[in-house]
Amino acid sequence: MRTRVTEMLGIEHPIVQGGMQWVGLAGLASAVSNAGGLGIITGLTQPTPEDLIKEIDQCREMTDKPFAVNLTILPTIKPVPYEEYAQAIVDSGIKIVETAGRNPEPFLPLFKEAGIKVIHKCTSIRHSLKAEKIGCDMVSVDGFECAGHPGEDDVTNMILLPLAARRLKIPFLASGGLGDGRGLAAALAMGADGINMGTRFMVTKEAPIHENVKQKMVDASELDTSLIYRSLRNTARVFKNSVAEQVVEIESQDGETRFEDIQPLVQGVKGRELFDSGDLDKGIWSAGMVVGLIDDVPTCDELISRIVREAEEIINERLRSTVSA
Ligand code: NAD
Repeated sequence: MRTRVTEMLGIEHPIVQGGMQWVGLAGLASAVSNAGGLGIITGLTQPTPEDLIKEIDQCREMTDKPFAVNLTILPTIKPVPYEEYAQAIVDSGIKIVETAGRNPEPFLPLFKEAGIKVIHKCTSIRHSLKAEKIGCDMVSVDGFECAGHPGEDDVTNMILLPLAARRLKIPFLASGGLGDGRGLAAALAMGADGINMGTRFMVTKEAPIHENVKQKMVDASELDTSLIYRSLRNTARVFKNSVAEQVVEIESQDGETRFEDIQPLVQGVKGRELFDSGDLDKGIWSAGMVVGLIDDVPTCDELISRIVREAEEIINERLRSTVSA
């Protein structure tokens, strides 16, 4: 498959592994890139900018294909020195960055000067248009199905993607709800130039998380996610475990919810412990509705080859046969 995404990013298949806190390490990113997709190291998973530089160096030893770094700008419990992380990315010679969360405009001069392509993740058309206007090279259009932060508009990809195709000039990825060849073919049909997957890549052999978590996601249905932080306007879609249900319960009580009321339950470090130990009720973890479509734990190479093969079959056979009669 050749699309504006494969051309711009210099990759073989139009499949990108989105940034994922605690999951986007060199091992997973290099496996995705070696399989012909674009792997992404998650910047803030590394405790310091110096650690990020080391993780990038390690990834370079594991692949000679392009890979990217994610920089997410959202509320955090501890302040993050974003400028230092951005400088570490530039100093490491990275050529593709995925930004997410707040407007990335303050970082664009630094990235552009270094010849970096910027993909901004957007949950609305207005943010996508703004990203195009300020000079982002590509957007990742993130529908309400997605894991993590879907924004506050609750619009699904069935609407967002055709709107993006009508209004944007720059290439865009479909993100949220993607996990198989049908999704890739549908995203291309709706005007996207490729897909971005997070949750699906969590359930691969190379994802650095405990087998219990992967198996729980294999067993899950499309109903097994919860929306938390709705009352704080920082909505996040996470796997529906007992901790997520407690958070939803606290938020549904009368009166205003303060972040402090739920902080002990949701802090990222607990999510990391959950991924390491396999204790499924240790904290929360991001997961999209696509868990309902996941029923195995392949390698990244098997997954990407299968998705591309399925999408090609759908386009060449099923879709062609509907118009050739
Ligand atoms: P953390 O431990 O600092 O915070 C845990 C969660 O609480 C995060 O989702 C954060 O956005 C939220 N939060 C923190 N302070 C808040 C406040 N004052 N009001 C409302 N919500 C608040 O974060 P972490 O788990 O170490 O993650 C680091 C960064 O990665 C954060 O910016 C987080 O949002 C982001 N992240 C993004 C995704 C995604 O899917 N896009 C998933 C996980 C984490």
